[in-house]
Amino acid sequence: MEQVVIIGSGCAGWTAAIYTARANLNPLLITGQQPGGLLTTTSSVENFPGFRNGIEGTELMTEMQEQASRFGTRIQYLSRVESVDFSSSPFKLTVDGKVIEAKSVIVAVGAGHRHLGVRGEHELENKGVTYCATCDGALPVFRNQPLVVVGGGDSACEEASYLTRFASQVYLVHRRDSLRASKIMAERTLANPKIIPVWNSVVEEVLDITQDRVTGVRIKNIVSGETGTIDCAGVFVAVGHTPNTQIFQGQLTMSEAGYITLGEGSRTNIPGVFAAGDCADSVYRQAITAAGMGCAAAIDAERWLAGLE
Ligand code: NAP
Repeated sequence: MEQVVIIGSGCAGWTAAIYTARANLNPLLITGQQPGGLLTTTSSVENFPGFRNGIEGTELMTEMQEQASRFGTRIQYLSRVESVDFSSSPFKLTVDGKVIEAKSVIVAVGAGHRHLGVRGEHELENKGVTYCATCDGALPVFRNQPLVVVGGGDSACEEASYLTRFASQVYLVHRRDSLRASKIMAERTLANPKIIPVWNSVVEEVLDITQDRVTGVRIKNIVSGETGTIDCAGVFVAVGHTPNTQIFQGQLTMSEAGYITLGEGSRTNIPGVFAAGDCADSVYRQAITAAGMGCAAAIDAERWLAGLE
């Protein structure tokens, strides 16, 4: 039986692995199908302390993984937890069809991209609709073409700035008249001559399903009610995230939006199950806070296991 199983391989998961490994708990980490989590879809991370010139998201995650491995973390790559049973101890996790028993579990499953939910979005996914500029921005179909980014947060600004390397023009469509992003990011974005903000506007439809390829978006100004179209070769959706907590529904207490509710420290409603990172944090959602939460969950798990003896 496992002492501690960590579900997830973002900042929270790797940090929990480093700490539990160094506490001699011999942790098993299940990476999920996107090892490294959301940070692997960003470009340079400029606000993680210790890297004065920034660090690429993938590099930061690789470093954390190597550090966790060095202390003996066992890693189950590309595996996915299909279901969990927290109703009695030991906890049971079904991973790729096999059941793993564990005394304690750290849930660090992160969050996934939120969708717009408009006509054409799903139909044209990977045919011009994407959720990751660093993954797809350099594709030939987007080069020297007008592109649309939807959203007004740090992600949207980051995506828009990154895409100016390839696009002829980037339209930043936001439903308000100012950006939600951090000040430095917002100022940098609005100062970029290739980025054209389209304020107070929402995308009503991604065009064109009949051509089986994105040719534009139909937008509506929510103040004036006017509608119009923007011709573009790609739509980059950056409207936030939803926690990946579906498999814990009915077992872990969570908010309406699906964020796991924490009690004292990283404790969930089930003794022995701890949560960390974006799946349990709707407020800060930063790489560094996720890492901090992973550390807290590891220490909580260690103390909880010690209390069993
Ligand atoms: P976010 O801060 O939640 O922003 C989401 C944006 O999408 C908001 O502007 C929101 O509009 C808009 N939006 C949401 N639903 C929409 C819809 N259905 N249609 C149109 N627009 C919609 O998400 P995020 O930008 O992904 O950032 C998440 C967290 O990660 C934040 O804490 C952020 O600071 C952090 N982050 C940091 C960095 C960095 O520091 N390098 C980079 C990326 C992300 P409203 O403004 O109207 O709500």
